[in-house]
Amino acid sequence: MSGPVTRPADGCVIALDVGGTQIKGGLLGGDGTVLHTERWLTRAGHGPNALIDRILGCADELVALAERADRPPAAAGIVVPGIVDETSGLAVYAANLGWRDVPLPQWLAEHLDLPVAFGHDVRTGGLAEARLGAGRGCADFLFVPVGTGIAAAVVADGRPLTGAHGAAGELGHLVVRPGGEPCRCGGHGCLETVASASAIARRYTRATGEREVTAKEVGHRAAAGEAAATRIWGEAVEALADGLTATVTLINPERIVIGGGLAKAGEALLTPLRAALAARLSFQRPPELVPAELGHEAGCRGAALLAQDLLDSRSLPHSSVQYSLSLAQGGRR
Ligand SMILES: [Zn+2]
Repeated sequence: MSGPVTRPADGCVIALDVGGTQIKGGLLGGDGTVLHTERWLTRAGHGPNALIDRILGCADELVALAERADRPPAAAGIVVPGIVDETSGLAVYAANLGWRDVPLPQWLAEHLDLPVAFGHDVRTGGLAEARLGAGRGCADFLFVPVGTGIAAAVVADGRPLTGAHGAAGELGHLVVRPGGEPCRCGGHGCLETVASASAIARRYTRATGEREVTAKEVGHRAAAGEAAATRIWGEAVEALADGLTATVTLINPERIVIGGGLAKAGEALLTPLRAALAARLSFQRPPELVPAELGHEAGCRGAALLAQDLLDSRSLPHSSVQYSLSLAQGGRR
């Protein structure tokens, strides 16, 4: 932990979690207390340049709020989806945001004249669950948010695995049904074509003709015994179990933390998923399967942790902070 030099005891850190639909923002105290949260629409359809201006504008709003509350920000953390290279500080690619190779933390640091930490939304969510949520006390676990898509943070020895090119954890694109439905990645039969919340809703509509039924509602209807819902929910659970079996075999996690929108189904998802996973495992010890604790806040809480880690690493010359950070500090533009 840090000494008093830079820890914002009376200040705060700014946290931003940029998603395809919403940008979530927060102000957090040095002890992790959430002082304020805010949400804005992403409006990614206006193009990447407009989106970057929008992100800078959201950060400005948070700075103004912090200053009005007499809690001047000491650093910012920002997390984004897609392929994220934390080491070079590049938002490499995100299909739903339309950008390529954007030095986002550098631009944000120059704009705010603050140190900025940078991370991948799911990996950083895994870091937050590791320190503050359902991964506490567990060095090796898997954080799997199941929502519009499916991704995973592989937390190994307390650190989210980044991979050589910032693309580790793309569990949603593990092929579980060869020759199956086309996926937005260009492949066929990927896990998220069967088991994401959007896939469950889409498949239910295709089977019944009924529109705008959410995955959570399909789960409720399956629990009530409705035939189409039972089949589609069951197929999603089986596909998830196939994907998790491959992952468990490869990395031997102690625990699997299921997050994202689908986790709101609770035991309607977890009970059959535990059974399907256990049925597939032979020599592998079954991991605990638990719901995430931080919900939609995981990314923002994690972004604040990255910002705080960055401050801590600067206040301690021989810091033991291990999670790799991208530091970008520039002058005001
Ligand atoms: Zn895919």
